[in-house]
Amino acid sequence: MCIKKTTTELFCPKCMEDTAYEITYFEDKISNLLCLKCGKEYCLLDSEDIYFEYIKRLHNRIKTKPKRIREEMKDDLNNSASSMPIRIIKKPFRMLEEYRKIKKL
Ligand SMILES: [Zn+2]
Repeated sequence: MCIKKTTTELFCPKCMEDTAYEITYFEDKISNLLCLKCGKEYCLLDSEDIYFEYIKRLHNRIKTKPKRIREEMKDDLNNSASSMPIRIIKKPFRMLEEYRKIKKL
C-alpha cells in the first residue's frame, strides 16, 4: 500500500488565488487536496473507495505471496531464509500500520 503526500501550487476558489496545496495520493489516485492557507479540503476518494481498493490490493498480495516468496528464495537463498522469521513476525504490525494510515485519509 502506498500513501504519498506532495505539495504544489493550485488555484483555491475560497482564497481566490494560487496557494500551496497538499496533495495526498492513495496508490496511484489522488484522494485529498488540502489548501494549506485556508484549510479547505477536497476529498476525491471517499472512505468506501479507499477500503475497497485496499481490500482488493490486499487480496492480490495474499494470493501472490507464496509465489513471491519462492522467487525471492530462489534469487537469494541465504538472505531470504535468514530474514523470513523476522518478516513473518513483523507482518501483522505492518498491516496494522497500513490500516491506520488509510483510516486517517
Ligand atoms: Zn484556500
